[in-house]
Amino acid sequence: MQIGPHPATGRGAAARPARGLGPQLLRTYEILRARNGHLGWWPGRTRIEVIVGAILTQNTAWSNVERAIARLRAARLLSVAGLRRATDPQLEAAIRPSGYFRQKRRKLRAFLALLDRAYGGSLARMARAPTAALRAELLATWGIGPETADSILLYAFGRPVFVVDAYTERIAMRHGWIHPPRRYDRLQALFTRHLPTDADLYNDYHAQLVWVGKHHCRPQPRCHDCPLRVLPGRRQIPGGSRATEAPSAGR
Ligand code: SF4
Repeated sequence: MQIGPHPATGRGAAARPARGLGPQLLRTYEILRARNGHLGWWPGRTRIEVIVGAILTQNTAWSNVERAIARLRAARLLSVAGLRRATDPQLEAAIRPSGYFRQKRRKLRAFLALLDRAYGGSLARMARAPTAALRAELLATWGIGPETADSILLYAFGRPVFVVDAYTERIAMRHGWIHPPRRYDRLQALFTRHLPTDADLYNDYHAQLVWVGKHHCRPQPRCHDCPLRVLPGRRQIPGGSRATEAPSAGR
């Protein structure tokens, strides 16, 4: 994804982090919370559903994940036992709508292998693991990168781990909160250094940034009606931004 400087100010890519970034990051959340309320993520009924969703959402729209999850549920495979007993063709057929279904079948199997090897197949035991150790194990699992690992830690296990994604990066760059080089851990530290360590705050903050990314901070930004247009350092939008239809709400 190509991310340039803030479309209104021209600053961002080479900008230094803003002074008083902590208050600005908190203000960002307050604005979005006031606009949307608590978004109540993650959209999943059970711990394993959240984990499956975190893996299936890689490189695809959430609507495709919802279709795959519905098919898993209909086939009675949306449980640790169900995933374990499914044959490869059954699993691939169910998750096909999420794309890259062979890779994702392998990733689900790799997660189950970790669960079985290190926790006797028990999510309850995994839930008692220290955060740093569990994160390291997840990152050592085939097909699980930082965003997926942190989504599992935060949304399946309630750990105070901030999740960053492409939307987070785009918003941070355009507002000059970070400067290159852009790396996952630097972006994550930007938030964890300046925000209270609070799993519920991290949960909803990430959800709110995804909302901004989907509805406003798109490749062609829609700043003119974005709630974050009031943040400090931002000037008048030159010529306005192109109005495009917002996607439906959801993850
Ligand atoms: S769309 Fe919103 S978040 Fe993105 S640059 Fe414009 S004001 Fe900032």
